[in-house]
Formats: sequence, C-alpha cells, structure tokens
Amino acid sequence: MKKYTIPTIVLLFSLFACTEDESLTLNIPESGFEVVQHIPKDEVGRDQNPLYLTPRKIRDGEFNTEALNTLIDSMYAIMQQKEGVGIAANQIGKRLQIFIIEAESDNPRYKVLGEVHHQVFINPRITKVSENRKNFWHGCLSAEGEKRGNVATFEWIEYECQDQTGAIQKGRLDGFSAVIFQHEYRHLMNGTYLDHAQHLLAKEELDPKLASGELPFFEAASDTLPLLIEGVQLGKGLEEY
Ligand SMILES: [Zn+2]
Repeated sequence: MKKYTIPTIVLLFSLFACTEDESLTLNIPESGFEVVQHIPKDEVGRDQNPLYLTPRKIRDGEFNTEALNTLIDSMYAIMQQKEGVGIAANQIGKRLQIFIIEAESDNPRYKVLGEVHHQVFINPRITKVSENRKNFWHGCLSAEGEKRGNVATFEWIEYECQDQTGAIQKGRLDGFSAVIFQHEYRHLMNGTYLDHAQHLLAKEELDPKLASGELPFFEAASDTLPLLIEGVQLGKGLEEY
C-alpha cells in the first residue's frame, strides 16, 4: 500500500494542475494577451468565452502582489495600444473582477468628451444610481468591425470597490466617466452593448453626424430605451447576482 502513496499524490497533483482554469488565475500567458471578441446572441461558443462567464472576486491574499500589479499593467498597456478608454479583465481572457477607465483629452476616438482620470476598480459594486438616464453611442475593443450602439446608462452612479492595495474606495461618477464605468461594469455582468442596443450605426456613418452635431453625444433617455446594465443590483457584489 505504502509504495503507491507518492505516485498517487503526484498523479492527483498533476490532474489538479491540468484542470485548473487559467482564466481564473492572475497568470500571464506566455504568448501574451489578445482582446477577446464578442459572439452574437444566436451563435455558439458563448459558454466557452470569458465575456459571457461570471468573473470571480480578487481575494485578500492577492492584493498588493506582483502578480496582480503585472496583470493590471498588461490590461492598461493593451487599452492604450488600442486607444480605448476602458478595459475589463474578461476582455483579455481573465474572469476577474477588475476594470480600468481613463480618457486622455487627446484620445482621437473621444476627444470632445473631456478627460477621465485613470482609475482601477477591483471587486466593484454600484451602491446608488440617478433617476435620469442618458443615451450614448458605444463602441468596444471586443466589438471590432461592429456598428456602434446607442444605449442608456445612468447619468451618475455611486460605487464602492477596492484598489490595488485592497483599500476600500467609494465615489461618485458622472458625465463621460459614468458612461465608461457602466460600459466596463456591463462586461463583468457578462455580455456587451451589442446584446442590448436596438439602434446601431456604422462608425463611418455615425462619426460625421456626431462631428456636425446632427446627433448629440449625450441625450436624455426615456425609461423605455434599453439600459446597458439591465439587471444591476444595488449594493451587491457581482458574484451575488
Ligand atoms: Zn467594451
């Protein structure tokens, strides 16, 4: 009996190591990251795609570690390279409750909307929302080549989250920063704006209309228009949904 003990342990360990889901770890893949692309509602493969699978919380022992900081640096580098104004961890294949927002005033995609200062949100929850909603034309790094979609978001939100050291942060966002926050929060709730938008326009068609003022960047939304974060539960963490 005894002579089987070590091989059995080795076998069990390797079985465990093989079955560990890489998307739930902080590990950086050797081949680097790629932006995960969306899958339309009626197509197969969503059950394998991190954009549609629940992300887990960052745990106490993972804050303030090199692994977490390196992962966040990688997310930020991809966001900047792609000229995005936000990125969620599941967009690079990691099912983790992390997203970043930042819009520099010279971002060519969103120049006129002003600056949104750099902020990392970990284990976020939305604690309060405005009654009023605003429409915004969304695009996404995970929707390459797709049309922009007009959906409603709350005019302002209040949040609670943790930062990279694990400290609790609370705040309120409005304007463009509230839009980006809700766009990224949608990613962690599963799915993208393409699952919700009823009004879609090709970028080439939309951009001149926005530039000429024919269409506004923000417009007041009525309650009947689709809400990007439909199903949001105030005060709850994403894993409690
Ligand atoms: Zn997105």
